[in-house]
Amino acid sequence: MAEKRDYYEVLGVQKNASDDELKKAYRKLARQYHPDLHPDDPTAEEKFKEITEAYEVLSNSEKRAKYDQFGHAAFENGGGPQDFGGFSDVNDILESIFGGFGGFGFGGGSRQASANAPRRGADIQTSVTLDFMDACNGIKKDLNVQRMETCPDCHGSGAAGNSGSDVCPDCQGRGKVNTIQNTPFGRISSASTCKHCGGKGRIIKNPCQKCRGVGRIRIGKSITVDIPAGIDDGQTLRVSGRGDEGVNGGGPGDLLVSVNVKQHPMFVRDGYDLHCDIPITYAQAVLGDDIVVPTIDGNVQYHINEGTQTGTVFRLKGKGVKRLNRDQRGDQYVKVYVEVPKGLNKDQKDIVRQLESSLETKNYAKRETFFSKLKDLFGGKNSNN
Ligand SMILES: [Zn+2]
Ligand SMILES: [Zn+2]
Repeated sequence: MAEKRDYYEVLGVQKNASDDELKKAYRKLARQYHPDLHPDDPTAEEKFKEITEAYEVLSNSEKRAKYDQFGHAAFENGGGPQDFGGFSDVNDILESIFGGFGGFGFGGGSRQASANAPRRGADIQTSVTLDFMDACNGIKKDLNVQRMETCPDCHGSGAAGNSGSDVCPDCQGRGKVNTIQNTPFGRISSASTCKHCGGKGRIIKNPCQKCRGVGRIRIGKSITVDIPAGIDDGQTLRVSGRGDEGVNGGGPGDLLVSVNVKQHPMFVRDGYDLHCDIPITYAQAVLGDDIVVPTIDGNVQYHINEGTQTGTVFRLKGKGVKRLNRDQRGDQYVKVYVEVPKGLNKDQKDIVRQLESSLETKNYAKRETFFSKLKDLFGGKNSNN
């Protein structure tokens, strides 16, 4: 038997991968190697079993701890990691990807919907990166997705031409077969999905070439998505009914678009509020001035008062980002800071010295309070203590 590969390597993740990273890696690989998508390729099924086993172990904290400590030897005395018990969400994941195609008997789930029952299509996930301003204003985007649709050649029957199908000889059309097992507790009879027809009860005589008899096929589609004004980085947009088509009359899944928003060189977003910093000169701070303030609607003028301190924050009400699905906007906060001039020549320095020496204590209210506090705290020449 070939050497077993390391589970982390199988899933292509780091040893310290989080549960989310594991799930993401498994979803991606399951989508790639699911045997239903490669009916003619036996290596796909092997590969699929390998990734599923790796995920079942690593997604279970108990099994993962054992594996981290002992490696594959941790499971050698039992029949395999599956026998270790514990819950796994493999079936849920497969169902969310393939809309119920995944009933392969892995994991602990015993749910087995009839192959002919209507099933809702799976949700499709994709992502989009937006410019900062497009996220503020909203934009239409064409997104390319791989969508499971009814095969256009056989219209979902899975049969080529009008070749039709026959009743499955193994299960006589029931879709299930009974198996009898001898166990230490006696004979146990259990019904399981017929492997020959996959539970459909019928066998397609001449499978459609395009979909290999599945009746559905993944098709590249461009979907125009209306991205609403106010969407923020990290949010997920759900576009109803644009996911995979359903099976046997089930409704379609949804398209989930995870949104990334690029940073802006000037604005920082916090919820629906915007923040920006604006440098002003010493003279502007001392004398007051009308300054130009950029907003997402364009530049506006703002009057700063005489004696404005560095770090002062102004609020421009309603100049923030539009709230999602509401006719309301956040605010913009503008922080001014004094840029101290550098590289002055001798004459300029003399002017500053002159100015400074002309100033009195009352011109520096904060300085005065600061030094009197200092005296109270640490004592001084005029202290009474
Ligand atoms: Zn087809
Ligand atoms: Zn059958």
